[in-house]
Amino acid sequence: MKNHVRNLLLLCICIGTFQVLQAQDFYNKLYDTYNSYKEESIKTRRFTHDQIIPLITALKNKPFFEVNRVGTSIKGKSLNLISFGQGSTDVFLWSQMHGDESTATMAIFDIINFFQSDDFKDEKKEMLSNLRIHFLPMLNPDGAELFTRRNALGIDVNRDALRLQSPEGKTLKRVRDSLEADFGFNLHDQSTYYNANRTPKPATISYLAPAFNYEKDINDVRKRAIKLIGYMNNILQQYAPGQVGRYNDDFEPRAFGDNIQKWGTSTVLIESGGYPNDPEKQEIRKLNFVTILSAIYAIANKEYEKVPQEVYFKIPENDRKLFDLKLTGVQYELLEKIYTVDLGINTHEVSAHNPNGYFDRGGIADMGDLSTYYGYRELDASAYHVVPAKIYPKAMHSVGELMENGVKWLLKDGYAYVVIKNIPADMNASSVPVHILAEEKPIQFSLHVGANPTFFLQKDGKLQYLVINGFLVDLEQPEKGFGNALIYK
Ligand SMILES: [Zn+2]
Repeated sequence: MKNHVRNLLLLCICIGTFQVLQAQDFYNKLYDTYNSYKEESIKTRRFTHDQIIPLITALKNKPFFEVNRVGTSIKGKSLNLISFGQGSTDVFLWSQMHGDESTATMAIFDIINFFQSDDFKDEKKEMLSNLRIHFLPMLNPDGAELFTRRNALGIDVNRDALRLQSPEGKTLKRVRDSLEADFGFNLHDQSTYYNANRTPKPATISYLAPAFNYEKDINDVRKRAIKLIGYMNNILQQYAPGQVGRYNDDFEPRAFGDNIQKWGTSTVLIESGGYPNDPEKQEIRKLNFVTILSAIYAIANKEYEKVPQEVYFKIPENDRKLFDLKLTGVQYELLEKIYTVDLGINTHEVSAHNPNGYFDRGGIADMGDLSTYYGYRELDASAYHVVPAKIYPKAMHSVGELMENGVKWLLKDGYAYVVIKNIPADMNASSVPVHILAEEKPIQFSLHVGANPTFFLQKDGKLQYLVINGFLVDLEQPEKGFGNALIYK
């Protein structure tokens, strides 16, 4: 090779590497400075249309943004499109068509704050001169009001892309068509029990380039989405290593993602799953912020085009092999024989009028040989015997009486139920690891799928752990890692 050709080649490689390093630097800074963009008025997963309207209204006074009311939900709530940027490539992002999937909505308001800040001028200039960005946050505000998946008609908006009966679905289609968007982002939440295939890591973020036909063909439109996801994955892996999954790509003819891909918009589905010790999904919100901005930046500078398609197909598929708590090999006595069983335990949210908006109810999801499964929390319980929990024999007069003395002494003696005479009417869960009964009644104990898991674990003749309402409680520090117990009225 001639020297000057080689030098030129080296120079090109160096510039390429430099660009990648520069981009990496940008993402690291984004990740590190995230808190300065975080929209502080939203702190938890459950928030309503009323809470985002002031944020949207405030943008109307800023010339940088164009805000348009593009539709109305069944119950009359506004659907708003927030647009900015001067470029010719239209990027359209919508969130929360399922009312109880709010993670990306939070991230959208963080990203809007980012674009209002004075930081990262060069990167923003590149994005805003090449792109016009359109956000439609909270497409299903009636569902969000109740924190339910479906809309006020009771249908799944994501199965309404063809029949278009819901005003929410009609709005999404009309906006997509009017923009003829080049790129679309369909922003959802998935089950927290998904893991990256054959690993114990949760699929904290899963991506999909939806198929547009049963054959799962790859045309230029879908190929752009596939390459873009490859790029997003390469970035996100640095902040959530191993916690990225690839969503099932079976064609669903009624779904929006599949149809929007078919209508010519390169479509990326982002699903927010679970992250250890992040029940309100604030860490996942941050990952949404980074991954969405990485996509926007890569579309603007076309860096995603360089990523081979294989990167996407190498992302591990989503599997559903996680439990909230997995106990391995507990010793369980049934009809005078002892059996070794693994227990897979999950806790489900029950909506309630309390500060969190919900309480948790535990259940045994599976039992037997669960050696192919994982838990957010795991305990090797092979040296432990299951001991049923008892009711404390003396009724208490009030919840205050229970709180006054703490619960350690009750638990040490094997009591995990107390009878309390006066339970406040508005109290719907116990904040200490003891179930509260309105009256004395016999407890039928058995381990079976669906049962509320409440029992002690005994080792060498001593009670060491309590499993109550699905939470594992170390008797030495009973408040640690505990959510709530139940009230049986
Ligand atoms: Zn969804």
